[in-house]
Amino acid sequence: MTTHAASALDDWRRSLDRELAALEAGGLRRTRRTFTPLQDGRLRSSDRVLVNLAGNDYLGLSHDPRVIEAARRGLEETVGSRASGLVSGRSPWHEALERTIAAFEGCEDALVFPTGVAANVGTLTALVAEGDVVFCDRLNHASLVDGCRQSGARLRIYRHDDLETLSRELRKPFDGGRRWIVTDGVFSMDGDIAPLPELCDLAEAYDALIIVDEAHGTGVFGETGRGVCEHFQVEDRVALRIGTLSKAVGCLGGFVAGSHTLCELLLNRARTQIYSTSLPPALCAAAGVALEIIGNEPQRRDRLWGRVDETRRLLLSAGLIDANCFRSPIIPIVLGEPRPVMGAAARLEEAGFLMAGIRPPTVPRGTSRLRLSLHSELAESEVTLLVEAMVAAIAAEGIKSRT
Ligand SMILES: *Cc1c(COP(=O)(O)O)cnc(C)c1O
Repeated sequence: MTTHAASALDDWRRSLDRELAALEAGGLRRTRRTFTPLQDGRLRSSDRVLVNLAGNDYLGLSHDPRVIEAARRGLEETVGSRASGLVSGRSPWHEALERTIAAFEGCEDALVFPTGVAANVGTLTALVAEGDVVFCDRLNHASLVDGCRQSGARLRIYRHDDLETLSRELRKPFDGGRRWIVTDGVFSMDGDIAPLPELCDLAEAYDALIIVDEAHGTGVFGETGRGVCEHFQVEDRVALRIGTLSKAVGCLGGFVAGSHTLCELLLNRARTQIYSTSLPPALCAAAGVALEIIGNEPQRRDRLWGRVDETRRLLLSAGLIDANCFRSPIIPIVLGEPRPVMGAAARLEEAGFLMAGIRPPTVPRGTSRLRLSLHSELAESEVTLLVEAMVAAIAAEGIKSRT
């Protein structure tokens, strides 16, 4: 008995080594690094200060003194929230944050989840039923795909932005439950935005419902920073919007914005809401203040878009992107194979710029890329240096951008 157990254990441990070795051989092994967050959109890695172009803190709110002060006040009372929201983990901070989100989003109500991933998985599994069909863009965030799968509904993954296939599928007779179209607002690895007006037209023509994940849209897109639905003025045409407090809001947590009835139902049904400890009150306080800043200081967004436009202009004239590249703070420079991407990322780091090299399985094979993620704290003068460094790093790897 003991020897058998020991040999199964040894065998399994050796298989872990083999799996890691296979990743290593394919240039796909990921390792973690440690960065000390600094002010002004910078980080420290060992002894070097780097401009962070690999983050999601688009407006610099993660370290805004007012946001930090709000968190500090919350921390004076407690660190952990001590239970799930339905048991005893709901505090006045949670209540206030949900009111702030609802006001910011122009919705009747909002429901906060521990993370954006939890909001996606919990909401989809609560709302999408087994007899339903879900249409999911191939480039949607993993948590949307997971939520769709776990719902038990029939899952139809369509090619990115392929409205033709989607419309052909929707035209087919259907006598099951409901049909849903689930999409990222901003696609996180490509930076492009979903064609929401066309998706809404399709949904309305064929009685489907749309769910939009605004993770990279909140605080960045739209007249008042509510995201891509606001940008396209389709907020009233989508069933609901899911967002995160971990990107432009600079904190942590996910949320759903919609009607009071929807939020009541979700708090009864969404398993990631019911079975997970609620957010720490300090984070609720911080996120509430960050959302107020987003509402009151549109100049932060204007500054971000100024940097986006200047960077795109320079990348375009350097031939690193083409004119079809979306106007977005996330700019992919597709180079193809993982090794030159990681090589270029290392050279950029030597030059003081931290940029993510993105490889499979995060993106399809043959589309490994540098992912430039801009933020409002980047100085205007830095944009020129950044693009020059990108040109040099990519040239030194002996490759060309395919974008
Ligand atoms: C980051 C991201 C999430 C997850 O949000 P977290 O708050 O980090 O869990 C969900 N959807 C999309 C599209 C994202 O980019």
